[in-house]
Amino acid sequence: MTEKMKAARFYEVGKPLRIDKIPVPRLGPEDVLVEIKACGICGSDIHIVYEGVTPTAYTPMTLGHEPSGVIFGIGSEVKDWKIGDRVTINPFLTCGQCINCLSGNSQVCLSRRVIGIHIEGGLAEFLKVPAKNLVYLPENIPFDQGGIIVDAVATPFHAITNRGALKVGEKVAVFGCGGLGIHGVQIAKVCGASLVIAVDAIDSAMERAKKVGADEVINPRKENPVEKIKELTGGVGGDMAVEFVGLKETIEQAARSVRTGGRTVVVGLGPETISLPPPTTFVRNELSFLGSYGSTILEIRKVVDLVASEKLDLSDSITERFPLEEVNKGLDHLHKKIGNPIRIVIEIK
Ligand SMILES: [Zn+2]
Ligand SMILES: [Zn+2]
Repeated sequence: MTEKMKAARFYEVGKPLRIDKIPVPRLGPEDVLVEIKACGICGSDIHIVYEGVTPTAYTPMTLGHEPSGVIFGIGSEVKDWKIGDRVTINPFLTCGQCINCLSGNSQVCLSRRVIGIHIEGGLAEFLKVPAKNLVYLPENIPFDQGGIIVDAVATPFHAITNRGALKVGEKVAVFGCGGLGIHGVQIAKVCGASLVIAVDAIDSAMERAKKVGADEVINPRKENPVEKIKELTGGVGGDMAVEFVGLKETIEQAARSVRTGGRTVVVGLGPETISLPPPTTFVRNELSFLGSYGSTILEIRKVVDLVASEKLDLSDSITERFPLEEVNKGLDHLHKKIGNPIRIVIEIK
């Protein structure tokens, strides 16, 4: 097999990734080598490359935490997988031993590591991962969709079904309809929400939200989203608001839009300090205010099943594709929102 591979590596904040030729990783007994076909790029990559908000564990680092591909090599102890299997990859490496892993919350494993942030990522021709991180990808899911499932779709799935624990018939407001939020709208519909209200300041994003099933859309530049959500819910407020933006303003709007007893789930990442309502409101209204990060491998499997069975349609989710050599163009488009991206995918082969 080839000794060297191409990888898109991060050296320094504000500098383009470099396409380096580096050695193909060597496998441990429980690892597999995946020949990467596609890898989504994410807001988190923008935080790393342009903003320096999320430092990588070391540099140079191969970025990319939404990869999918085909098994190319197998460690000596790996069972249940064979060369040629189509796979997507849970980007969270977890210990399986800590209190959170043992309680089924491996997304907050105490020694959690994320591929493409703490260890080598998927913007490369090959990726070494523990076999336990693989999820089988059926033939009817293309690799690009398989890649984005693990973060852009599984993250809102976890936020809505696990942290927010959406029940059939509930009313949900989704703040931010970009790469994660647009899938939040779809998942809320699939899970039986009676009313899904999408909030986004970009008109084309709202049109998109409508197309994938939002019942109502609100542009906060034109209407007060808190008042409008109250109005659309008979003056009561939504059962749940999910925030995918990560700004103080939108998080606080989300929190004010829910009913007494309602819950706010924050998924968007950002550096600003957020404030809670005074205890006289927070306590008496029994408000829940929840963070939500990533997902478990079980949730990724469920999302794969929803896509494979055509309950969840991701066919419009990938707005642009670039070859590995043009990864910086892809990052630039995502950063500047050129072409109003949902997800941009780097196609490796
Ligand atoms: Zn991500
Ligand atoms: Zn753990």
